[in-house]
Amino acid sequence: MKYFVMLCDGMADEPNEVLDGKTPMTLAKKPNMDALAQKGEVGCVKTVQEGMKPGSDVANLAVLGYNAYDCYTGRSPLEAASIGIDLKDTDVTLRCNLVTLSDEENYEDKTMVDYCGGDISTPEAKILVEYLQENLGSDEFKFYPGVAYRHCLVWDNGNPHPGEFTPPHDIPNKVVREYIPKGEDTAKLYELMKKSYELLKDHPVNKKRIEEGKRPANSCWFWGEGTKPQLESFMKKTGLKGSMISAVDLLKGIAICAEMKSVDVDGATGYIDTNFEGKCKAAIDEFKYGQDFVYIHVEAPDECGHRGEAQNKVKAIELIDEKILGPVVDFLKSYDDFAVLVCPDHPTPLSIQTHSSTPVPYLIYDSKNEKNGVSTFNEETAKSTGNYIEKGYTLMDYFLSK
Ligand SMILES: [Zn+2]
Repeated sequence: MKYFVMLCDGMADEPNEVLDGKTPMTLAKKPNMDALAQKGEVGCVKTVQEGMKPGSDVANLAVLGYNAYDCYTGRSPLEAASIGIDLKDTDVTLRCNLVTLSDEENYEDKTMVDYCGGDISTPEAKILVEYLQENLGSDEFKFYPGVAYRHCLVWDNGNPHPGEFTPPHDIPNKVVREYIPKGEDTAKLYELMKKSYELLKDHPVNKKRIEEGKRPANSCWFWGEGTKPQLESFMKKTGLKGSMISAVDLLKGIAICAEMKSVDVDGATGYIDTNFEGKCKAAIDEFKYGQDFVYIHVEAPDECGHRGEAQNKVKAIELIDEKILGPVVDFLKSYDDFAVLVCPDHPTPLSIQTHSSTPVPYLIYDSKNEKNGVSTFNEETAKSTGNYIEKGYTLMDYFLSK
């Protein structure tokens, strides 16, 4: 038996005026998803548990069958795993964004101009983060370069709940005074943020960026604290050899922590220009190598939701259907039996341009157990069947037991 999960990040939505009162899933031409829906089971699943934020971390853990209440220890340690950092149980990790701040004298008076440091490139960021490590790194604090603006600080024997941090993307164009880290044990971290500005503002990498009309990545900004996650191995849990194919460090980190194989695909960008064909080929290759379970995560619908790009969101769903789902399912027909799960992790409605916790539609197809399904797969038809899975982390067991 081969199992394939097509995870369409943020695909679910709400009827939107820009799309003539339809959702992107309803509007998208997706013959392959619809063909599976006609012979499969569709329904709704609550992937984000009560009291948890609807992040891709929590929601993807649920789809993979992990109860976030038991195992979720923060976002940054999952990213740390994807960077290749071997965390100790006593380490505390923080996401270290490279951001652009305005140039007022006092740090508190500066404005958060850009949470992603003017889209700083990975090679430039590596130089800056290594420079921070040389000058601010110590036995207690270590800086590790990651991808683009997303890096990691590891705090040896740190306080896992040092205080309150604000994600920089939540305070665009705001003066940072009210959002600097609060709490008894954040003083040292704030000190590092202030010193990073002094070190980075005149760094040659940033001088060159300013000359080229780009924003300098002139400060680090900490948030997303966490500790080493304790995920049971996916293999031990399910007996299946699993592979993860994603462009996103978070998903790679989840895979590494769950002892799955994380596959890198050239040109996988996390946006609508991502290498759909490459991801499709990688999935087929993984099955050929003998893997039982392949999980492809495509970020593009989520990004389009965040940017409020309605037509692109429709297009992203169509591209997933045409360039990944169709060919992978065709390939799977060469096996005696196979099952496919298609679902988003969470909705990213165009109307709010951020994630919501609303239950999402799922589609399960089992080649050995075809059913009378529904004509097409979308939010509406999923609801109409009355199938509802309240505990999202049980969906995977349900899928695998098919
Ligand atoms: Zn998102």
